[in-house]
Amino acid sequence: MAGSVTFTMIKPDAVGNNHIGAILQKINEAGFRIKAMKYTKLSAEAAGQFYAVHSARPFYNDLVSYMSSGPIVAAILEKDNAVADFRELIGATDPTKAAPGTIRALFAKSIEANAIHGSDSDENAQIEGNFFFSGLERF
Ligand code: UDP
Ligand code: MG
Repeated sequence: MAGSVTFTMIKPDAVGNNHIGAILQKINEAGFRIKAMKYTKLSAEAAGQFYAVHSARPFYNDLVSYMSSGPIVAAILEKDNAVADFRELIGATDPTKAAPGTIRALFAKSIEANAIHGSDSDENAQIEGNFFFSGLERF
């Protein structure tokens, strides 16, 4: 059965361009509830750990420096079928291929600076949520 939790980050480009409020509004209007949230900044080391699964990819070093270039908003979100529904809400990785009205179509700058992260599986949603939040930080 599909899980009810996903993990997201509003990425440095979207934070820097003052899109936090608009993106959170879209997330809430789509029926997601916020279980945990923090405004924070990743060190290069932490960004490298978070994206370790991509460490062999050609874009990895640029991705790590981009994701540690400014503040982010990290959050755990709850909804039925959370992972798949959230991936649909954010749109394709490449904003030029993201469906109209999706968060990446509206707010992303490039395939790298693509405004927002969404977990790709229930297992990774748990791992990624645990990377940022302790049990006491969830409501
Ligand atoms: N990324 C990139 N170049 C690429 C593919 C991905 O810079 O060709 C970045 C982009 O920020 C993306 C992240 O790496 O969101 C993780 O890639 P993934 O394939 O997991 O995409 P996502 O799951 O975020 O859609
Ligand atoms: Mg991914």
